Amino acid sequence: MKGIRRVLAPNPGMMTGPGTNTYLVGEREIAVIDPGPAIASHLDAIQAQAGAPITQIWLTHAHPDHATAVPALREATGAVLMAWPTPNPTYAIPSLPTPDRALADGDDITLDGEHYQALHCPGHASDHLCFFRPADGALFTGDVVVGLGTVVIAPPDGDLTQYLASLARLLTLHATVILPGHGEPITHPDAKLREYIDHRLAREVQVLGGLERGLTTVAALVADIYAAVDPRVHPVAAQQVLGHLFKLVREGKVARDGDMWRQVP
Ligand SMILES: [Zn+2]
Repeated sequence: MKGIRRVLAPNPGMMTGPGTNTYLVGEREIAVIDPGPAIASHLDAIQAQAGAPITQIWLTHAHPDHATAVPALREATGAVLMAWPTPNPTYAIPSLPTPDRALADGDDITLDGEHYQALHCPGHASDHLCFFRPADGALFTGDVVVGLGTVVIAPPDGDLTQYLASLARLLTLHATVILPGHGEPITHPDAKLREYIDHRLAREVQVLGGLERGLTTVAALVADIYAAVDPRVHPVAAQQVLGHLFKLVREGKVARDGDMWRQVP
């Protein structure tokens, strides 16, 4: 893909896989997508590999593994920060600058003579943007779609109803490649997006099945659905189950009474 390079940040972990992907876009001027964690060697690598002035910073969302390097990179380069105007204060770092250009859904961005679209894709995070280059179908998805496993949807900022709508919307783009916030590029975007949607719907069937068999708490549902999975993952799994329950309540299929949940007949 023309003028797209990846700089892998040295922050591997359970939630970040091999680390955060920072992308450099453009040739005569550079946009940095997701500066990543504030690690000096990573900031050095970004600037060393740019090869041209860094004029723009595009932030997919304000989660720390994508955003803590923003202040230092903006300071060092004078680049214009473009992001959703209102990151959730519970996770945005206090030093995150107000965007120099607040992006709205559908906004056009020009860089090095090429056009990009900013797309508001909430679900993983309420402030999440994806970036799409219509000329060749390159789609930068941040944490909406990742190159390994699935994405954490943690309520209340994470919202499964919105997440499924975002996936369906990305499917309408018929992208040629997905450049995710973690993991390797995805060369079959539509199949991957369908797989993500199907995975969530299959989970929902499992949640409803558990309720039908008389399970009433998140802990009981997690123990049932994730029985074969490493227990260390169970706290994250509980967030996912909760996301499904909130969605089902909103759809009138499940009722809540404190910590107890039941299917609506
Ligand atoms: Zn994230």
